[in-house]
Amino acid sequence: MALNRIVVLVGGVGGAKLAHGLAQILEPERLTIIVNTGDDFWHYGLRVCPDLDTVLYTLSGLVDPVNGWGIAGDTAHMLEALRRYGEEGWFRLGDRDLATHLLRTMWLRQGRTLTQVMDELRARLGVPQRLLPMTDAEVATVVDTVEHGELEFQTYFVRYRWQPVATAIRYRGLEGASVSEDVARAIGEADAILFGPSNPWLSIAPILSVPGMRELLLARDVPRVALSPIIEGNAVKGPAAKLMAELGYEPSAAAVARYYGDLINGYVFDERDAGLNIPVARATTFDTLMKTQADRARLAGQMLDWINSWGRNESLGDHPG
Ligand code: GDP
Repeated sequence: MALNRIVVLVGGVGGAKLAHGLAQILEPERLTIIVNTGDDFWHYGLRVCPDLDTVLYTLSGLVDPVNGWGIAGDTAHMLEALRRYGEEGWFRLGDRDLATHLLRTMWLRQGRTLTQVMDELRARLGVPQRLLPMTDAEVATVVDTVEHGELEFQTYFVRYRWQPVATAIRYRGLEGASVSEDVARAIGEADAILFGPSNPWLSIAPILSVPGMRELLLARDVPRVALSPIIEGNAVKGPAAKLMAELGYEPSAAAVARYYGDLINGYVFDERDAGLNIPVARATTFDTLMKTQADRARLAGQMLDWINSWGRNESLGDHPG
């Protein structure tokens, strides 16, 4: 199977790790990264796109290696100044990071699309891979919670540190949203489509919710392979397992595979979970914990080698269910 062009769907920190692994081993023109924008919001008049920026900073080498988001060595003088005015300053916007939001907001105000803005930002930071927002429309993830009712995504995630109990997750603004030409072309030309180990509900589901996206993916008779974010019933980081339990799923790599259903025809999960029964036509295990930059490249290589080994000329659409 000739895997020339690879598309990977990702959210922020977890997805950026796999995207970075792929970026280390593929020529840049072979990789396109489609990124969740359901986390994006307006904050003090600025358009903030946390997942796009996490991927941008990861691929450009600017990222804070401890947090996995934000810019290494960034300071917080602007936030301190906001607090002096009596503002809460709960969303951590670093001083250097602010430059990204200022430029993005200016260019959006001048009429450029988010796709064009991100293309300019990544080019100026020397990132050669294509980095595409899932849509140019403003789609917003909303979390219904027991304690506070409906919460905007960043209020849920950052302000309340994803502690409220979620009862539902919704995506606002879908009626005006569509798949961009660039995203449609990238998916249409892909020889394999990977789903990063990103949070299935908070990072991948918003991408899938863009009208037309599921159909585009399902129309491609190519390997469509997800990497599990759940290892031994736990998320490596963040609320994936907690959310699964709250939304009525058993927190496990198998339940994630079932959730993706016929969108995927291949699944990679952790070797620590080797005994699980995975309801996907092709499934395999690796050490999927990416602790170092070398781990990212190693796992990305293992995934591509495995997909490459799939039989030629077989239809890939089958899904035993
Ligand atoms: P966020 O938007 O910044 O929360 O990032 P993502 O949604 O892209 O990624 C969060 C998910 O990545 C979590 O559910 C983690 O379990 C998963 N994750 C993070 N690091 C790893 C890793 O090294 N291996 C695997 N398999 N999953 C990971």
